[in-house]
Amino acid sequence: MAASAEGCIFCKIVRREAPASFVREDAFTLAFMDIQPMNTGHVLVIPKAHAEYVEDLPAGSAGPILEAAKEVSRALRASGIRCEAVSFYLANGKEAGQEVFHTHMHVIPRWRGDGLGLRVRADRGRVADRKDLDNLAAKIRAAMGRSRK
Ligand SMILES: [Zn+2]
Repeated sequence: MAASAEGCIFCKIVRREAPASFVREDAFTLAFMDIQPMNTGHVLVIPKAHAEYVEDLPAGSAGPILEAAKEVSRALRASGIRCEAVSFYLANGKEAGQEVFHTHMHVIPRWRGDGLGLRVRADRGRVADRKDLDNLAAKIRAAMGRSRK
């Protein structure tokens, strides 16, 4: 269940009770340098309000995260920091690689041969069966608006 905002390191950063190297702030979001960067210039964008997962965000507060990430991306490309491209990455749950349970988007400078990437299974690129896709889409449509189990 939702960890409290009390012991949350990102909430502490929002409250200025823990140190961070700030990049950007607006009414809804805060951006700061990742303390364990995957590449030099790796920035995190977080909502100021504590939300364990993306789907815990109040209505209207998911969009500002991507808007902030867009501005950070633009600035990274103009900063002189090595940045030929940018990866946006959001791990939504432990099995997806989430380590801090206050939702956050990674904004990571990328360059050719930097060695980063998602690992994929050997069957990647397999074209899915249309009937399977239709069934999956129907399940997801039917669950729209429902809370997780
Ligand atoms: Zn938090």
